[in-house]
Amino acid sequence: MVKKVVVIGGGAAGMMAAGQAAFVGAEVVLLEKMTRLGSKIAISGKGRCNLTNAGDISNFVSFYPGNGKFLYASLKEFGNEALIHFFQDYGVETKVERGGRVFPTADDSEVIVKALKKYLERTCVKIRLNQAVKKVMIEDGKVTGVQLAVSDEVLPADAVIVATGGASYPGTGSTGDGYTLAEKAGHRIIKPLPALVPLKTLEKWPKELQGLTLKNTAASIWIDGKKQGEEFGEMLFTHFGLSGPIILTLSRIASKALDQKQKVELKINLKPALTSEQIDLRLQRDFLKYGNKQFKNTLDDLLPQSMIPVMVALSEIDPEKVVNKVTKEERKRLCRLFQELVLHITATLGMATAIVTSGGVDAKQINPATMESRLVKELYFAGEVIDIDGVTGGYNLQAAFSTGYKAGKATARMS
Ligand SMILES: Cc1cc2nc3c(=O)[nH]c(=O)nc-3n(C[C@H](O)[C@H](O)[C@H](O)COP(=O)(O)OP(=O)(O)OC[C@H]3O[C@@H](n4cnc5c(N)ncnc54)[C@H](O)[C@@H]3O)c2cc1C
Repeated sequence: MVKKVVVIGGGAAGMMAAGQAAFVGAEVVLLEKMTRLGSKIAISGKGRCNLTNAGDISNFVSFYPGNGKFLYASLKEFGNEALIHFFQDYGVETKVERGGRVFPTADDSEVIVKALKKYLERTCVKIRLNQAVKKVMIEDGKVTGVQLAVSDEVLPADAVIVATGGASYPGTGSTGDGYTLAEKAGHRIIKPLPALVPLKTLEKWPKELQGLTLKNTAASIWIDGKKQGEEFGEMLFTHFGLSGPIILTLSRIASKALDQKQKVELKINLKPALTSEQIDLRLQRDFLKYGNKQFKNTLDDLLPQSMIPVMVALSEIDPEKVVNKVTKEERKRLCRLFQELVLHITATLGMATAIVTSGGVDAKQINPATMESRLVKELYFAGEVIDIDGVTGGYNLQAAFSTGYKAGKATARMS
């Protein structure tokens, strides 16, 4: 008997799951509520799609804070090399950029979507667009089909794969429907929160620096006065606060803490390679060099131009003061600012701009070897709908592809 499989959601996880289920012998219908497949892939990596990372696959689990271990089996079976080969088979050449980020050589995410569509065509997956699923039908603890939202049509199925994505960037179709479907099937949902998301600050001065990128900077995050994380690299000032790679990585911690009404502070170290003594020596040298100039005109060697007025104001040293009159105490205060520029985080920019959702279907209730629900037979989950989220660098798409592959393949088993 040919198994009937319905896949809900035509993103990275759903397309991979559908193709794989069909490849292993099932008759597959892929239901997508939007007018096209792969909307989120299309905008990923600023339209270039950072599909995975070239790093050692055995280290991958450490790039998914929280539930990385859940992905161990999927990443082992269908890891970065397998994914790159998969796309090669469909004519997509890839290249590796900074930090091991893998992109299509064409610098165009549409080549990834096209390759996946070709895969679905070759494996004879039936695609139905504009079809939102509102319910997974279950009888005696086993899946029997799905019900569509608008028409109420019921599609019978021997297995259902939920690959509806998270709740971030809802314009792409991922509006959190999967959480409702899973909850109705008895699953626990870990509160979905925005992750990899820019942060708003109480202080208004970041607005004065909007557009300024700082490289080789360290930022640490402090929750209720305790340091909870630190990142080194690039950050960006914006009209609302902070963004850029290291901020996005730290945002996951901020997001959870803000949700729990905790105090969130971010401390920027502008010169992480220098000790406070070394910074002080640099300041002394520059103050000597610019001896008779006003303090506000003496920081050019240490700071980007646009940052000077902000640092001068924060130092509370009279900007007009001749620099050789700056006291030791004032210099020490300035020195401290270089190492610990404190910002109070008031909010994230929210789901609308979050690259990924943390939280989702509790991974403990899913078998990581098959992606099958531990509660309902022949109900599978794949991709961001599960409570897994990775850092930037291609890890989120890899997780979607790996879990999609695993779920699709697992449907071949006869229960
Ligand atoms: C701006 C941006 C850039 C990103 N860049 C990268 C990157 O470069 N590298 C990286 O690794 N990750 C990146 N990510 C994250 C990555 O794109 C996602 O984690 C990944 O696409 C999730 O795949 P998914 O298949 O689980 O979900 P999605 O891609 O969200 O797909 C879910 C699909 O399900 C459909 N759907 C939802 N509900 C229903 C329903 N009820 N019925 C039918 N269909 C439904 C949706 O319309 C959607 O098409 C980026 C994310 C964003 C927002």
